[in-house]
Amino acid sequence: MERIARTRISDLLKREDFGSTINVKGWVRTKRGSKQVTFIAINDGSTIHNIQIVADVANFDEELLKSITTGACLSVNGTLAESVGSGQHVELQAREIEILGTCGNDYPLQKKGHSLEFLREVAHLRPRTNTFGAVFRIRHNMAIAIHQFFHERGFYYFHTPLITASDCEGAGQMFQVTTLDLNDVKRKDDGSIDYSADFFGKPTSLTVSGQLEGELAATALGAIYTFGPTFRAENSNTPRHLAEFWMIEPEVAFNDIEDNMALAEDFIKHCVRWALDKCYDDVKFLNDMFDKGLIERLKGVLDGEFVRLKYTDGIKILEQAVADGHKFEFPVFWGMDLASEHERFLVEDHFKRPVILTDYPKEIKAFYMKQNDDGKTVRAMDVLFPKIGEIIGGSEREADYDKLMTRIKELGIPMKDMWWYLDTRRFGSCPHSGFGLGFERLLLFVTGMSNIRDVIPFPRTPNNAEF
Ligand code: ATP
Ligand code: MN
Repeated sequence: MERIARTRISDLLKREDFGSTINVKGWVRTKRGSKQVTFIAINDGSTIHNIQIVADVANFDEELLKSITTGACLSVNGTLAESVGSGQHVELQAREIEILGTCGNDYPLQKKGHSLEFLREVAHLRPRTNTFGAVFRIRHNMAIAIHQFFHERGFYYFHTPLITASDCEGAGQMFQVTTLDLNDVKRKDDGSIDYSADFFGKPTSLTVSGQLEGELAATALGAIYTFGPTFRAENSNTPRHLAEFWMIEPEVAFNDIEDNMALAEDFIKHCVRWALDKCYDDVKFLNDMFDKGLIERLKGVLDGEFVRLKYTDGIKILEQAVADGHKFEFPVFWGMDLASEHERFLVEDHFKRPVILTDYPKEIKAFYMKQNDDGKTVRAMDVLFPKIGEIIGGSEREADYDKLMTRIKELGIPMKDMWWYLDTRRFGSCPHSGFGLGFERLLLFVTGMSNIRDVIPFPRTPNNAEF
């Protein structure tokens, strides 16, 4: 076969130099035709759209055409031609076809219209479907949008460790990291495990958040963000929780909670605008395929300000709703942690806009949040979104050493491995704020997918670590 430089389909579909000789490579999506012509739609992952290959049967070996089946990988040299019938304005008149890889008839993606549940069972192949091609192109784009947003605003991308020896963030929810032989664990005289023999000489786990180290960096570099994997062994089998997910955590010196809210709002709007501007074909496909309200919802987030509401006022609204006859599964009272049904009521039914809920009871929030003067609430802020509920959790941090220590003692948090964190409050402490955005929660919103397992290539959930 004549060697011609490959053209990506996304580029090819924009061209109008009909008559040019082109090479494309990709995987067969469909093949149909008559005795005279065969039409082969191929896709190379560069766009949701296929290019149609037109092959005159007379010009090709019969056996070759026969072995072009759905899923096979082809390299095609041909002439760019104007198309009338293929749904695209160009097609390729094939001159030479090489089969790079045939595809057996046990290929699981023969037909269109497999369920998302089935596709999870073939997660190694599902990126080849239109749906997952679109989702993963959007996922890439959101990662780029995030880096660009922070870089342009003078934030530094800071890498926090994945293995941690501090267990104060989410005791009981962490995955232990060990090289001890579990079949032959050495014990101390009192019967407890002898971790001095473990790799790090003490118990370690996978991190649930990069925030604590992020605070160290913010109080040096000014403004930083992390963007990496986090791990939670919470056994919550919901459509919004993964055991391994990616989190973006900006942390900014001198920001108070107002600045933090403004940053969160700008940040999400930037990502949503990017999706509409740069991923429109993929977003449109998902809109038409799964969720006819998607594009409207994305545009809705860009119009107008997010509501800023105090927790106490949010509870009043929910109590009023209950009084008016609205049924929630879980009871509503001051002091409760909001369930996603409560969050979605505020966002979807009451305000019809994203809501930033602030000043939560200290009992349901982490020890490091700045304490308000009322002695009851802390300067927490959760950003609540339509369809998702909580998409961001953040706060202004307690900058006062004594107040922080008092809270730590009240909660009985084991601080022996945390001296380094407390040093930020001893050596030039400053007001600072930050938040965590769950990357996959953002993707749920932007793609309109309804299960978080469908926005990460290889989901990790209880009893599931295949692929
Ligand atoms: P939730 O109440 O929804 O479990 P959380 O309060 O535990 O969330 P944070 O600890 O504040 O969440 O984490 C920050 C962000 O990380 C959340 O706002 C959410 O977007 C995301 N997140 C938290 N847990 C998970 C998870 N198990 N899977 C995917 N994303 C998550
Ligand atoms: Mn959680």
